Amino acid sequence: MAARIWRLGAIVGMMALAACEAPQGAVLSRPTAERSAVELPSPEQAAENFVSVVRRMEPQIEAECYARTRGRNCDYQIMVDDRPSTDPNAFQTEDRQGRPVVAFNLALIASAQNPDELAFVMGHEAAHHIAGHLAAKEQDALRGAVLLGTLAAVAGADVSGISRAQDIGASVGSRTNSKDYELQADRLGTIITWNAGYDPLRGAEFFRRIPDPGETFLGSHPANALRLDIVRQTVAELRAGRI
Ligand SMILES: [Zn+2]
Repeated sequence: MAARIWRLGAIVGMMALAACEAPQGAVLSRPTAERSAVELPSPEQAAENFVSVVRRMEPQIEAECYARTRGRNCDYQIMVDDRPSTDPNAFQTEDRQGRPVVAFNLALIASAQNPDELAFVMGHEAAHHIAGHLAAKEQDALRGAVLLGTLAAVAGADVSGISRAQDIGASVGSRTNSKDYELQADRLGTIITWNAGYDPLRGAEFFRRIPDPGETFLGSHPANALRLDIVRQTVAELRAGRI
């Protein structure tokens, strides 16, 4: 089946972007100083790389989704987010019909050094859907909101105080497990990337060029070194035929 690549900007009005997922789903958040030292493909080459990666990755992503889930929509739409932004970004969401959407912005497509990096990011974002992370994050946020709202009520807060506590609870709650979700997506993304014939180790070199969130308390992303470890470990298992 020919890969269909949609322009996100043209249809973004129809999409139900999960409230907290777009910024947090980003694999990249800011360009780094080292980027200037990195050799990047020409814009034509970058576009060509992206199209060929979509063609090879989409069937693997969908096969993995059907194999690992029951009753989930596995008909992925891989899109280009052409809204103007200089910060490289990719994210996963669902449209109103429940179709999984993986979107890359132009800055990310242009800043990937090779097809392996694009494939790895695509596999990672697709894995979030297969693993059900959007729904899990919503549950985490809801639990946090209920917990802090109840605490505020017990402490005698008024209606606006309870509402503020619920907002804080939702925000903290949505981050509770997010590092685990990222590492799970790195592992499954590595498997998909490998099965599509790309090199996940080369693809994960991307992490070396993005700002390291370190071990920030309640940060949404794990430290880059930890992510690279997961990729290396998963590739070792794949090479040994244990996965
Ligand atoms: Zn992620």
